[in-house]
Amino acid sequence: MAVIEGIQAIHEEMKSWRHQIHQHPETAFEEIATGDLVAELLESFGITIDRGLGRTGVVGILEGQEPASGKIGLRADMDALNLQELNDFSHKSQCDGKMHACGHDGHTTMLLGAAKYLAATKNFKGTVYFIFQPAEENEGGAHEMIKDGLFDKFDVDAVYGMHNWPSYKEGVFCVKGGALMAANDRFEIVITGKGGHAAMPHLAVDSIAVATQVVQALQHIASRQTSPMHSVVVSITQIHAGDAWNVLPEECVIRGSIRSLDPEVQKKTWKSIEQISAKTAEAYGASSSCKIHSGYPVTINDKTAASKALIAAQKVVGDDNVVTDFESTMGSEDFSFMLQAKPGAYVFLGNAGEHTGPDGSPCMLHNPYYDFNDQILPIGASYFVTLIEQELPL
Ligand SMILES: [Zn+2]
Ligand SMILES: [Zn+2]
Repeated sequence: MAVIEGIQAIHEEMKSWRHQIHQHPETAFEEIATGDLVAELLESFGITIDRGLGRTGVVGILEGQEPASGKIGLRADMDALNLQELNDFSHKSQCDGKMHACGHDGHTTMLLGAAKYLAATKNFKGTVYFIFQPAEENEGGAHEMIKDGLFDKFDVDAVYGMHNWPSYKEGVFCVKGGALMAANDRFEIVITGKGGHAAMPHLAVDSIAVATQVVQALQHIASRQTSPMHSVVVSITQIHAGDAWNVLPEECVIRGSIRSLDPEVQKKTWKSIEQISAKTAEAYGASSSCKIHSGYPVTINDKTAASKALIAAQKVVGDDNVVTDFESTMGSEDFSFMLQAKPGAYVFLGNAGEHTGPDGSPCMLHNPYYDFNDQILPIGASYFVTLIEQELPL
């Protein structure tokens, strides 16, 4: 392990920032105190700041020792989740119903640690942009920052990010090119039949019975219509209809979630959902309307950027602690919007350490017993610094 000495030296300081952020979790677009802390720290390091992109976003701008055209963005997310923390340690959440259960407190801290070190050493040429974004969870804070002109203002050559990953042990990096995390879309199908008396179904068109056929038919998208070499998930998560014991309701609403790793598969799946619901409803004398809300796109790492990230990770933790052959996840990430705009790479850093849930195993993200592992703070910060010194060398 070759954690940078100057970063190891600020480990305790980083821990205190992390615990402060953990104690005061803020959710989507309300990252006021967190943004203030980030901005104050960046300024105290001598870094110029820009605030307000994506409402609560903070960007730190740092020039290296020599001017040069190279520009790299490093991104961390700052938001917490609406979740009641069940941990009972001294740095537990002080805000009922909100918690840093995805480790964004740690992501913010690792980037702050890298910023402090790079500002003090400036062992690079060109410019580094430290991008602290709001609202990664559900609300697309990355997209909001881009919409507000993030990359017009700061036209980076590449952008890099990182997420802690509890199923890998502390200090293990997972790096690969291509699709890493899934696109996440939602759909709503409204089946309209003909309402009627439960005792006389032949005089009605039973929207519930039709909806169950639609639900069954939708299973064919993953099992029969998609190549076994590709991945897609179509999950029905809600069915709503009816208020009475003896009424066949006119309408039945089906809602669900789509996950896919390939934009082609994604498009085909949308089309299949529309077609299957319309034709199935028609076959039973009902009609259907289908709305698909596109969410986060597939997180796709640029192959060249991923190979640069791989080299940096190997320098920090050694070849044996970098995994390149691992499964992509059907979870989603709004860093995908940044990767649509700029080449770059997203990596996972193993988080499993001493802290566990009540069953003795590491807590997965979004678990009420989760905690970011402070041991990986200097590792993540060293990775960011190594990447900058490697890609913007003097
Ligand atoms: Zn999360
Ligand atoms: Zn997260």
